[in-house]
Amino acid sequence: MPDASMPAGAPVYKRVLLKLSGESFCRPGESGISLSEVSIICEQIKRVVATGVQLAIVCGGGNILRGKEFSASNSIVIPSTAHYMGMLATVINGLALQDALESFGVATRLQSAIRMEGVAEPFIRRRCIRHLEKGRVVILAAGTGSPFVTTDTAAALRAREIDADVVVKATRVDGIYSEDPLKNPHAMRYSEITYQDVIRQGLQVMDMQAMHHCMEHGIPIVVLNYQKPGNIERAIAGERMGTRVG
Ligand code: UDP
Repeated sequence: MPDASMPAGAPVYKRVLLKLSGESFCRPGESGISLSEVSIICEQIKRVVATGVQLAIVCGGGNILRGKEFSASNSIVIPSTAHYMGMLATVINGLALQDALESFGVATRLQSAIRMEGVAEPFIRRRCIRHLEKGRVVILAAGTGSPFVTTDTAAALRAREIDADVVVKATRVDGIYSEDPLKNPHAMRYSEITYQDVIRQGLQVMDMQAMHHCMEHGIPIVVLNYQKPGNIERAIAGERMGTRVG
């Protein structure tokens, strides 16, 4: 077991795609944005970037609105509109994250898959990579820009596009379990698992489209609990942390 009081070692991944779900923007069980929750992530991101790692972040929007849930709960807003609303929710989170990170002294750029020049740069792969090379954290908002998928899929696609070495999925659980650990205290945590086993067992870790994409292109995924300080750095330093899917 890694000693949590020891600093993490040197990074083994050079370019990292961090997937932050909407839930990391709000207090557990709540919705909206809590800047104290966002700060937990910002502190870690600041330390990660200081090690020279290139970091792109895909923001979720579930703390504000998920298209599927919203369209299921009313019959007036059509499903595609609801998904666009969900994508805009990710931009709201991205804006909050950008200012929060900059208040920690981290240089950032916000890029959106839906054009909105007054608010964010458009997502342009080459420009994104250039920012990363200059040490800026690039926040990728508005998912893929197309409805009916999730930001997990956006994270997997962007990881491939920017040639990231790993996808780190930050959650509030310690990794992937055989069953929901909240329902079964005897559920077992995997320290490593294959993409195939995640898919075969239908483990709820990332949407399956994203999992298939990572599998097809050999992009490893690390699922970890971002609320434990140092976890993100330790994962990037290659320590056994959370669950590694590969
Ligand atoms: N969304 C979409 N296309 C995308 C990414 C996201 O339509 O490429 C919508 C979708 O409705 C989704 C919502 O944006 O429910 C918010 O994203 P997500 O549910 O992935 O957020 P998270 O669960 O990570 O908080």
